[in-house]
Parts: sequence; structure tokens; C-alpha cells
Amino acid sequence: GADPVVKVAQPHDRLLGGLLSPDFNDTSCLSRYRASLYRRRSLHVLSSHLVSALRRYESLHRLCGPGTSAYERAVARLRSPSSSNTTSDAPSECSYLVWTPHAGLGNRMLSITSAFLYALLTGRVLLFHRPGDDMKDLFCEPFPGATWVLPEKDFPIRGMERFGIRTRESLGNALGRGEGGRDPPPPWMYVHLRHDYTRPGASDRLFFCDDGQDALRRVGWVVLLSDNYFVPGLFLIPRYERELSRMFPRRDAVFHHLGRYLFHPSNTVWGMVMRYHGSYLAKAEERVGVQVRTFSWAPISTDELYGQIVSCAQGENILPRVRESSSGSDNATAIPGSGRQQQQRPARRKAVLVVSLHGEYYERIRDMYYEHGAAGGDAVSVFQPTHLGGQRSEERMHNQKALAEMMLLSFSDVALTSAASTFGYVSHGLAGLRPWVLMVPVRKKAPNPPCRLAATVEPCFHTPPHYDCQARTKGDNGKTVRHVRHCEDLKDGVQLV
Ligand code: GDP
Repeated sequence: GADPVVKVAQPHDRLLGGLLSPDFNDTSCLSRYRASLYRRRSLHVLSSHLVSALRRYESLHRLCGPGTSAYERAVARLRSPSSSNTTSDAPSECSYLVWTPHAGLGNRMLSITSAFLYALLTGRVLLFHRPGDDMKDLFCEPFPGATWVLPEKDFPIRGMERFGIRTRESLGNALGRGEGGRDPPPPWMYVHLRHDYTRPGASDRLFFCDDGQDALRRVGWVVLLSDNYFVPGLFLIPRYERELSRMFPRRDAVFHHLGRYLFHPSNTVWGMVMRYHGSYLAKAEERVGVQVRTFSWAPISTDELYGQIVSCAQGENILPRVRESSSGSDNATAIPGSGRQQQQRPARRKAVLVVSLHGEYYERIRDMYYEHGAAGGDAVSVFQPTHLGGQRSEERMHNQKALAEMMLLSFSDVALTSAASTFGYVSHGLAGLRPWVLMVPVRKKAPNPPCRLAATVEPCFHTPPHYDCQARTKGDNGKTVRHVRHCEDLKDGVQLV
């Protein structure tokens, strides 16, 4: 018979339906169990298979992570491969994936997420290589009772952040030398998935083929450098298909789940988020997040982009239109919260959070609602936490502010973002919102329509291999498997739908 479904007021689901482990100390990372209090409830179903895969991974990380004897043995094998071959080649020993930072914070968060999914699929332990200070005090530890930070001191592989296409140990170069099936396998290999990996002559794209996966299978240490969200690429590899479909029966919320699992801002960053939210956004009845990013490859003037934002926001009812006259005596003086106004309905408080490196868009939107009343009588307030002018990803405070703003955006009820920005992908991916996307300008002009509702909350994989593993030639990865399609915001990219 039917289950008696009794809807009672749900207590706060602090573990997000089992996504998060309960085994953390709450005070060391305040955001972990609290961020969801500020976000809309997730409508994206979480599979029990993913939950058990995460718990299994956490045990593996505790067993193999830095500080364990297994870890010491694995580093010793890396330092002198030959000596340890004689003792035992026990297949049960731990293997690792070392993630190396590259590019802006959004790119980094997407590539760590991809690396983590690859680690889940291959039974590797994910370690975070942090060569400088720029990513310190940014994220909490994601795995209970263990650290994911690679102990830098005495780690035998040096200069990983400078690895590139020419690095001798790269997968592409090893395959090029015909060393894919080396026995015993090399102690470590490098996988280069930075946006230039698809260049002719570079063979790291074979990572997405059986040849590449075979070559990596028995290698104890894999170093990865990527600025890509390469998760859709993992869905192209036949051997992972079954496991992926069990973890993600609906393929369209992979980042949403893994991102909320991995990324918990440190108490320093969370402090900034809470102060800003409490001061400017908490009282609003509706929060609109507007992220404005410009790229040199897609030039557009400030006037033109402002026009695009307003025509999208007002055309799609994201922001109210303004009344023509600014002196209106009708309900222009609506004061939120004061019940005895002479008006049809109390004004709704709408907070608009503008996030951008530049200040102009915020100023103009704010001025518009200052100079004219909002049609319909909403009280629109407009805020921007910072306008830092430029990107400085090698500075810690800069990254902390960027993360704080991604978090604030993830509390939005409605999102309007710029095309192709990984900063935006992270923000609305954490929120679980399909954003309105400002389409890329065409010959410096806003296109028509100015924006589109994204087909999915999933980020776009900007540089897929576009390779046909069977035919060993160029291919179109937007047409290889059912759930991977070309992105709407960047035609060459692919995304999960
Ligand atoms: P993408 O370039 O838009 O794909 O995003 P990334 O996050 O990878 O790189 C852009 C970097 O520029 C961010 O990480 C920030 O350091 C900085 N940045 C860009 N837009 C903003 C913004 O709106 N606010 C802040 N605080 N930083 C930003």
C-alpha cells in the first residue's frame, strides 16, 4: 500500500540527505553544516550509491592519507622504486592522485571536483598540492579524520605546478614513446589536461581513451594539472559508464553534489560571508544574484553590456521595470515593513547582489532604482561586496574574497550570470540553480535574445578532447554519448544533460 507520507516541518537537514559525513567537529568548520541554511533546498536527487561511494572513499583516505604508514610506504616506493619492488608488489597498496593548482579559483574548484570523481572511480586517494600561500585558509578539510593536503616537505616530485606538455613523464609523452604497457609500470606519471592539451602532437587527450586509462591503471602516483571541468569527459570512457550511471542516475547535477560535498569555506571566509549576508541580504524576501564577467576574447563595451543585463533582467522578470516618472506620488514611497502604507500591497524586498571585478554595473543598476521607482512597488536594494579591478589568483586575500562572493551568490533565489565563466558555474552549481546566462557578444554587440535559461546546472567542459578513440582521429564529443552535448554558452565545449 501507499506509505503514509506525513509532511511535518522538516528540521534542518544538516547532512544534506547523507551527502556529508557526520564525523566532523562543527566549530573547526562552521560552514560545513550551515551553508545549506542559507540556500534554497536542493531539488536534485542524491543516489544512495553515491553516498556509499563517498563513505567508502573516506575510509580509504583515512587508511592511505598523509600521516599513515601506508602513505609512508607509498612515498618510499616513489623515492626508490627498484628497492621496494623486491619486497612486495601488493596490489592492495594505496595509489594516489595529486592535484596541482592552475588558473583562477573557479577553474581550480572545477578541476579538483573532476579529479575527485576520477579518484572515486579509480580507487585513488586525492591529494591537494599547495605550493604557495594563495590557497591557505580557504577551504576546510573535506574528508573526516584525515588531511587532503600533500605534505610538501620531502615530497620527491618537485615543481609540479610548472609541468606542461613537454614534461617527460606525461601520459601523452609516455604513450608517444610506446611505453603505455611498461612492466613494471613507472612509479609516477603526469596527466596534462590544461586547455592546451588538445594541440596537435600532444597526446594527453588519450586520457579519455582506453589506451590512456590502461597506461595509468597500475601507476602508484598520478600528478594532474588541469584548468578544466573534465567530468563530462569521464562519461565518455566506457569502463566508467556503469559506475557513473549508478552514482548519478540523473547526470545533470554532478558538480552540484560533489561541489557541496568538497567545498566548505574556512572560518575566515565564512566570517566574511556571514557578515555580508547579515548586513545586506538576510532581510530580503527575494535574492537575485547577478554575476558580471568580461573576457578579452569576447569584447563588449560597458554601455552595451549594461544594456544587455537590463534587457535580460527586465525581459525575463528577474528585476522589475522602472516607472517612467521619478516623482510619482502613487506608491513610490512604499516603506518595507511599515504595514499602514497607502498602497495596494506591501512592497516586497528584493535584494540584488552584483558580483564583478568592475563597479560600473552595480552603480548603474543601483542608480536606476534610486532615480525611478520599481513598477509594481517592489523595494529593490542593490549591493556589491568588492570590485577588485583585476584577477590576482596568487594572493590569498583575493581568493578568500572570490570564494566569499561565490558563496553569497550561491544563496540566490534567481541567478543571472555571464557565459563561460567558471566563477559563475561554481556559484550557481552550488546553489543548484539553472541560471539565466548572458550570451557571448557577437561583434561587440549583445546578441538577441540577450540571455537564455541554462539547460542544466552543470558546468561546461570548455576543452573536450574532440577525439574518436576507436578511429584514432578527430571526433565530435558532443555527439559521442547520449548525455553529453555541446554547451549553449560555449559551442566547442560539452556538458552533461
Ligand atoms: P573565470 O575566469 O570567470 O572562468 O573564473 P575563475 O574563478 O577561474 O578566474 C577568475 C578570477 O578572477 C577569480 O577566481 C577571482 O580571483 C577573480 N574574479 C573574477 N570575477 C570576480 C568577482 O566578481 N569577484 C571577485 N572577488 N573576484 C573575481
